[in-house]
Amino acid sequence: MELYCKDCKLVYSTPRCPACGGKRGTPACGDDICFLTEREQLWAEMLEDVLRQNGIPYIFKNRYGRGITVTLGFGAERVSFYVKYRDLARAQSIVEELFEAPADENSFSEETHR
Ligand SMILES: [Zn+2]
Repeated sequence: MELYCKDCKLVYSTPRCPACGGKRGTPACGDDICFLTEREQLWAEMLEDVLRQNGIPYIFKNRYGRGITVTLGFGAERVSFYVKYRDLARAQSIVEELFEAPADENSFSEETHR
């Protein structure tokens, strides 16, 4: 059974949340907002397009925000994507197709899929 960690917005099938080690996970249900992936701005825009084309609702969160992106440069921004649990499997296969080459920095979703 897959569990959902409200704090990390992560779905996992291990006894503990792989991100925070918490054991307070609840069974994942369709409306839970789940962490999908984190990508650089450039890829994030591409992913956004594909999610939209597939009719998958998503939310995203910029890690740094505008103030810092100006300092570090646009390309340094990283964007986290979240989708509903009911769309998660579909969204994950989209991500896998889009980003076949494994990223250097491991995100949670990539670790659980290897
Ligand atoms: Zn957690």
